[in-house]
Amino acid sequence: MALLYNSAEPLKKGQNIRPPLGSFFNGQSYYLTLYPEMGNPNRSVLVVKMVLQFQFKNGSGGSWTQGEKESYAHSFVDGVIAVWNEKFRITTTSTIPAQNCRDVGVVFNLPYFIDGWHTDDDFELSVTKVPSTADWQVSTCHYSDGNTTLDSNDLRPETKGASMKQRDAVHEFGHMLGLRDEYPEAKTNLNHTGDTDSIMHKGETVRERHYAPFAAWLNKQFEVAAQLSKSKIEYKVNGKTDMSNALL
Ligand SMILES: [Zn+2]
Repeated sequence: MALLYNSAEPLKKGQNIRPPLGSFFNGQSYYLTLYPEMGNPNRSVLVVKMVLQFQFKNGSGGSWTQGEKESYAHSFVDGVIAVWNEKFRITTTSTIPAQNCRDVGVVFNLPYFIDGWHTDDDFELSVTKVPSTADWQVSTCHYSDGNTTLDSNDLRPETKGASMKQRDAVHEFGHMLGLRDEYPEAKTNLNHTGDTDSIMHKGETVRERHYAPFAAWLNKQFEVAAQLSKSKIEYKVNGKTDMSNALL
């Protein structure tokens, strides 16, 4: 069951921290809020909110119907949430944060607009309609512009060489979080080239390292508390992984 949280009582909030991605833009792509978990006084929930703006473009596959647009946007959000939500706990052994802030789950909140023009979106997804029989095409995420380019087949599971199929759009969401490609041909992050099932490689498995930026965000929220208590407050994914060993 999805984690329930008390949205009336935010504990911490702020924009994302960029992973150290070389030339990648160092701006905002999403917003995080930590809330108390409902029904569990010893845990909290980190909500990763990204407002999506879908721009549907007619193409070689013809014109989008309104129903097709809604179905695509809905399937994108459903697919991303199924793959990315609640994969690991982020914990700290420090006793400085309140008890419920020491054990944190992660969920994604992805409101979206279909077409039109809005100033409050975090990411624009341009989706071109291609024939449903068209071969798989490489999608792109231009992180620095807040743009992702997809086509109408990008929610179709493709066999790429992992033990499971991969939907391009669900992989692109990883780039929207600031994560880099891990398959060797991309020549961006070559630290995990053997991990073919990884979502940033050719599969759909989210790894501990992919949550490390959220652990870093929690560290930042408790920076002042750490200084005041003259102690270290270190959050780690599954109690093990943070930016120091995630090799992002
Ligand atoms: Zn990629």
